[in-house]
Amino acid sequence: MALIVQKYGGTSVGDVDRIKNVARRVTLARAAGHDVIVVVSAMAGETDRLIGLAQKMAERPDERELDVILATGEQVSIGLLSLAIQGLGYRARSFTGSQVRIQTDDVHTKARIVSIDADRVRQALAEGEIAIVAGFQGVSAEDEITTLGRGGSDLTAVAMAAALAADVCEIYTDVDGVYTADPNIVPEARKLDRISYDEMLELASLGAKVLQTRSVEYAKNYLVPVHVRSSFNDNPGTMVVKEDTTMEKVVVSGIAYNKQEAKITITRVADRPSIAATLFGRVAEANIVVDMIVQNISQDGSTDISFTVPKTDYARTQEIVRVILKEIGADKVIGDDKIAKVSIVGVGMRTHSGVAAKMFETLGREKINILMISTSEIKVSCVIEAKYTELAVRVLHEAFGLAREAVVEDTV
Ligand code: ADP
Ligand code: ASP
Ligand code: MG
Repeated sequence: MALIVQKYGGTSVGDVDRIKNVARRVTLARAAGHDVIVVVSAMAGETDRLIGLAQKMAERPDERELDVILATGEQVSIGLLSLAIQGLGYRARSFTGSQVRIQTDDVHTKARIVSIDADRVRQALAEGEIAIVAGFQGVSAEDEITTLGRGGSDLTAVAMAAALAADVCEIYTDVDGVYTADPNIVPEARKLDRISYDEMLELASLGAKVLQTRSVEYAKNYLVPVHVRSSFNDNPGTMVVKEDTTMEKVVVSGIAYNKQEAKITITRVADRPSIAATLFGRVAEANIVVDMIVQNISQDGSTDISFTVPKTDYARTQEIVRVILKEIGADKVIGDDKIAKVSIVGVGMRTHSGVAAKMFETLGREKINILMISTSEIKVSCVIEAKYTELAVRVLHEAFGLAREAVVEDTV
């Protein structure tokens, strides 16, 4: 008998029939003798609908109230699933984030989990019940409702699995697992049987939304075995696991893209010490996370600086920069929100050379201009014009041979 955490995403609980399908799957695991904790998301589209409603009331809704509104989506799902399971003759009990006691900090809309006191859930399991936990929500020390950032139900599931030392955390979604690229834009994408935490972390943070970034971080820290699979069939999915030596032989494991960032260029910035500190200090003070930064070579004592920020912070960042233009001796601000970042990821890059060059060549052959580049040990990212995103992902997928079984290269 195992202890299993199962998480079902929005599409998997998108309507009454799908919730009944989830109930059947959950009860099969229970009937096999396992203890089951189920984490559910809001029904498909519900979180977006709730955000839309809030925005009808206020241009920039107060984040405490926004969390009060957003948390309702998951609360509906847990109640409905609990009823569906009871309807199949099993015992089930729903829990909100605050009832479990998923304690978070007080940063509304992107709270971090501080601790989990899962006694009530343990008690429910001990009494033979299936525990149904609302994803995405927690409670602050001051008893305020908080949410964990978009896609946060993945984090709830992984954190519950860690807190209860579950045997596995199964993430049920609308695709069969983690693919070499988003299967909805690359039909030839191949499902991976296994992927390392580090590669999954890069793919997630570079845009592959199949798992929320922080959930992968949490899984890596607590060594939670995560199995990503479909809620619509019984195919084995992808295991997210600790890296082993065979993984290094695959140079590129996956490709991700992100269209949610915008580029800001400041022209003729004074080229002297502490200017970058002033500029990025102001941006950071506004809690805006900067991703890529490029600074040109200096000409006549001035230089151009470009950087990217989330599209949601695009307008605000431009306002901030405009205010300090004089202070940093700059000329003007130019914005571009029609960009995309395309990235290749693989732990094998640590031991193979020429990977970035191959990426640039491939994009060049398609006449796709590269606007910015950044690299780390296991990834290369290029910012390009947004209209070329799908093309870029497809040609890179082809160039690195990802549709076929992974090519094992032994040369360094
Ligand atoms: P859920 O509602 O179940 O949480 P999400 O929509 O958050 O599901 O994540 C699943 C989606 O992630 C898929 O439908 C797919 O379009 C997208 N996706 C992006 N990159 C990948 C990838 N490399 N492998 C699998 N799915 C991916
Ligand atoms: N319902 C939340 C969202 O749409 C959390 C989740 O689905 O994981 O972001
Ligand atoms: Mg998701």
